[in-house]
Amino acid sequence: MNENQKMNFTTQNRLIIFGLIFSTILIMAIAIFATVNIQKKLDESYQHFGQVISKTLAIESAELIKNASKNDAVKLLKAHSDLILKSHNDIVFIEFKNSDGESIYKAQNQTKSKNTQTNISVTSPMKNLQNNTNIGNVTVGLSGSIVDKVSSTTRASILFVFTIVWLVFAFVVLINTFLITRELKILHDGVAKISSGKFGYKIEAKEVSNEVLELFNAFNDMSNKLHLYEESNIEQLTLERNKLQAVLMSIANGVVVCDNNDTVTLINEHAKTLLELQDDQLLNSNIKNYVDSDGNFCFNEKIDEYKKLSLEEKSSKPVVFNVKLSDKTLKSIISPMFTQSHEYVGYIIVLIDITKEAEMDIMKSQFISNVSHELRTPVTVLRSYIDTLYNYGEDFNYEEQKEFIGTINSEIIRLNNMVNDILDFSRLDSNAKIEKSENDISQLVDYCVAEVQALLKEHNLTIKVEKEDNIPQVNCNYDAIARALTNYLSNAIKYAPQDSEIKVRLFQDMSNHQVVVTVRDEGIGIAPEYQKKVFDRFYRVENKTHSVKGTGLGLHLVKTTIEKHHHGHVFVNSQPNHGSTFGFSLPIDDIEDDDLV
Ligand code: ADP
Repeated sequence: MNENQKMNFTTQNRLIIFGLIFSTILIMAIAIFATVNIQKKLDESYQHFGQVISKTLAIESAELIKNASKNDAVKLLKAHSDLILKSHNDIVFIEFKNSDGESIYKAQNQTKSKNTQTNISVTSPMKNLQNNTNIGNVTVGLSGSIVDKVSSTTRASILFVFTIVWLVFAFVVLINTFLITRELKILHDGVAKISSGKFGYKIEAKEVSNEVLELFNAFNDMSNKLHLYEESNIEQLTLERNKLQAVLMSIANGVVVCDNNDTVTLINEHAKTLLELQDDQLLNSNIKNYVDSDGNFCFNEKIDEYKKLSLEEKSSKPVVFNVKLSDKTLKSIISPMFTQSHEYVGYIIVLIDITKEAEMDIMKSQFISNVSHELRTPVTVLRSYIDTLYNYGEDFNYEEQKEFIGTINSEIIRLNNMVNDILDFSRLDSNAKIEKSENDISQLVDYCVAEVQALLKEHNLTIKVEKEDNIPQVNCNYDAIARALTNYLSNAIKYAPQDSEIKVRLFQDMSNHQVVVTVRDEGIGIAPEYQKKVFDRFYRVENKTHSVKGTGLGLHLVKTTIEKHHHGHVFVNSQPNHGSTFGFSLPIDDIEDDDLV
């Protein structure tokens, strides 16, 4: 119970006490007023009674002594008055006087003591009714004891009645007060529960008056409505929150929401994965304290830069920067966050994984440098060889000239292959359809092997071809498949050690209904982490380890030709320093792209 409640309680008590005292005084005043009034009425009645007695006695006595002598009259009056005194205990004395005012006889009540006080004495004239003459008077003295008795009994009764009334009144007031206080307390507790957020709290109504019951019912109704409102509100809010969360979660980019103090208030799963966070590690902590795996505060500087901008600048030009984590590159965009009333409340950092794009950018620039180098080398060789032959051709014998022309020829073939690769790249990478027809793959393998004979000789390599009989015809573009196989073969020649053997196999995979071609070399092989990537465009392991030149386009073209245009598969099995097996499979009954639609 707090100070306020204590004070209210005291005021209430004071009011009750004041009410009781006031009602006591009122009841006492009424009782006194009633007693005084009754006493007055009694006195008046008693006076009246005395008058009636004295008048009756006067008439009776006058009648009694009208014809009697003086002595007889006294005797008669004595006998009569004694009789009256005996029957009326309240009469103290009766005194008869003659017309001259002299006392004829005074009868004293024997039961009363001499000292008994006479409260009322009433005198009535005695008249001779025949001649209407005054023959004296009679005085009756009354003690008033009856009045005293009656008035004390009345007073006691009144006092008793009023005391009972007061007690009942006080009891009722106290009980009522207690009940009201109790009901108020129940109500107060209920209101306290509601104000502390316990919507739906119900007051148990036991033995309460109808009015209070109505009040309790109204309270319970209100509480129930508040509860329903709260539930529907919570439901609505939860729904909105879930929707927002679902949207945030389904965003393919990472989203980090920060308040004005750089505290992370929301972070989606994708952001956690991108930033390599565990559970809610970053939630409720300062984003500027985020450290990448190399120990760098990668957001710190850019957030400070963003915070220096004016609101207009923040809204019109978000801060964009790249964050480099161990194995990924994240494009980060910081943009401001406003409430509906346009109040600035913080910022959102959107994280986009651009690792592939970043890698691709690097690969593209390496591709350009590789291509220019690859073009320059044969052109330089060609120029010097042709220049030598043109200016000093006669100085060389036939065999030497033939060797010169052979080198020029192989350089032209290299140049031609490279230009073809670049042309094929743009053609095959586009969605343009390539022509297909039923082709004999066995014959195609022989053709490709013959094509690389010169190169094999150049590298002192042998080739072994293993072909299954009865390989079915395959619906394909002959030139494209031949170029794919030539690519495998020239790579095998490029990476195989001198004097080693290259194996070409052609077989039918019955279970998958496809034709498979593999090229195996005993070369340097490819580490497992690069094996998946070698088919990506512009990708070259040499950029990291090897020194053999190339453009990084060959295997990508093989993959595009086989998988995109012929619905087959490319694969590689390789072990570093033990050689590689590159292969592709072609479905025997390839369905045309048009048929797929
Ligand atoms: P490139 O023009 O560089 O040869 P490719 O797309 O043909 O381009 O090959 C991609 C990369 O795959 C090469 O740079 C090389 O590192 C690797 N590679 C391809 N074939 C072989 C092979 N037979 N042995 C070892 N590495 C190979």
